[in-house]
Amino acid sequence: MIKQDVVERVRFETDIVELVGSYLPLKKVGRNYRGLCPFHQERSPSFYVSPERQTYHCFGCGVGGNAISFVMEHDKLDFPEAVRFLAKRLGIEVKEDAGGRHKGAYEACEQAAQFFERRLQQSETARGYLKHRGVRPETAKRFRLGFAPGGNRLRGEARKRSWPEDDMVKAGLLVERGEGLADYFTDRLIFPIMSISGRIIGFGGRALDEREPKYLNSADTPIYRKGDILYGAYQAKAYIREQAPLLVEGNFDLLSLTNVGVNNVVAPLGTALTPNQGALLCRYNRRVVVCFDGDEAGHKAARAAIEVLLRSGCEPQVALLPSGEDPDSYVRGHGRADFQKLVADAVDLIDFVLAGRKFRTVPDERASLRELVALLRLMSDDAAVELYANRIAERFRVERDTVLRAARREGLKKPRPVAASSPELEERVVAAAVQSGELAQAARDLGVHEIVADERLREVARLAAERCEEPGFGPAQILDAIEDESLRRRVAGWTFQQDVLPGVEEYRARVARMRAAWLHGRILQAHADGDGARAEALTKERGELLRGAAKERSSRS
Ligand SMILES: [Zn+2]
Repeated sequence: MIKQDVVERVRFETDIVELVGSYLPLKKVGRNYRGLCPFHQERSPSFYVSPERQTYHCFGCGVGGNAISFVMEHDKLDFPEAVRFLAKRLGIEVKEDAGGRHKGAYEACEQAAQFFERRLQQSETARGYLKHRGVRPETAKRFRLGFAPGGNRLRGEARKRSWPEDDMVKAGLLVERGEGLADYFTDRLIFPIMSISGRIIGFGGRALDEREPKYLNSADTPIYRKGDILYGAYQAKAYIREQAPLLVEGNFDLLSLTNVGVNNVVAPLGTALTPNQGALLCRYNRRVVVCFDGDEAGHKAARAAIEVLLRSGCEPQVALLPSGEDPDSYVRGHGRADFQKLVADAVDLIDFVLAGRKFRTVPDERASLRELVALLRLMSDDAAVELYANRIAERFRVERDTVLRAARREGLKKPRPVAASSPELEERVVAAAVQSGELAQAARDLGVHEIVADERLREVARLAAERCEEPGFGPAQILDAIEDESLRRRVAGWTFQQDVLPGVEEYRARVARMRAAWLHGRILQAHADGDGARAEALTKERGELLRGAAKERSSRS
């Protein structure tokens, strides 16, 4: 972790015009600079950089962000890498937060990985095994595969080279076994597990004989938590922004696909997909294609993964493999083209759930309908819920509203904000808040972050509310906190709209009207729920709000 004040300094001291200008020629036009977009092919320039806002935006392809995200996008770096890169340009020394504390454990992992790699080269058996599984030497190298021999050889190597033993223990590589420290991995093929920035943080080991367990993973350590990272995420990250990530079950599925040049592949580490892993994928791409084994167990695991992905805000699809096949066997048997076709034919969750089902009776149909509605309840995006509801309604020939009502009836714990104003107005209100600390404070006081119907605008409003009193508040700062790329682009785009920001009084009045309309909706809802006390409290709040607005109007005239 890079220290927060380093991030702040990098953001403050980097001049985006100078930075972008070092990548492409820029010309001053009015208050902004313009050039040919580096992210799409174009003849006339539609890529703009704002020195005032420290943001960029392309009117052609929609990319946008601040200095850090420019470097991330252009050079395919992750956030810490981009900050380090910019800090280096500025001559700022990067202080690491947690990395420093666990430096020894990281080093132990790296040393062990190199040791295992060397051992792989020396082991006929291990190399023979890889060959038998069809893993090409380039692939083995890219994933830094290794071999852990038997007989405490790592311990011996650590002593010979005076690597600190307690770091080896901290990294889970040596363990206490009765008569002293012993190697954790013995006689196993080794899969180093890398963090998203490519540091080795743990290992997986596969037995080369019939030993149990077949797979052994590092236990959790201070630098490695199984549920936080995906196998192959580091190697896949340059690809999965453009191509939907493929989620496969096994390490060999991933290696066989990499063998044939399919690079957008990740695998959970021998467990069911966790919410953190889902969130990690979602940061790169909302679309995720689940490609699990074509048997009963694979089907079940895919179903569980879909639920996790939906909760993370992803839009999962499923590539259906023929029964008895896994991605490894399929791509080795049929080749890359057939596999790609299978991925291109991936179905959405409705077709996945209903695949192979025959409805003989109404109760059968109702059970499947209920199952799908339960999945809709996991979605956070209103538009997505409606689109899926359309499809479900068509499949079962029921009214769309029936599906929607069922989806919204119980599952949604929080009451859905009733749209109080047009989406355009909401967007303008949030856009203004992002660009001015004064307006952001007004927005916070009137709770814009709760009244806006669009979930993603709410997120931006919440960020603005949290940070509006920090020094240097502005779009460039907010952009760093937004992990979703499309949302970041939208926010960056706001800073290039011609709109003049409203005065704070006018803004306050506009938001107060929005809030009053929102309260009105909630009052009706409270009555519908039979919650008289809540209705009364809300009515009181609305009355005060309207009286305040009237008073302000009269004092101004
Ligand atoms: Zn562009």
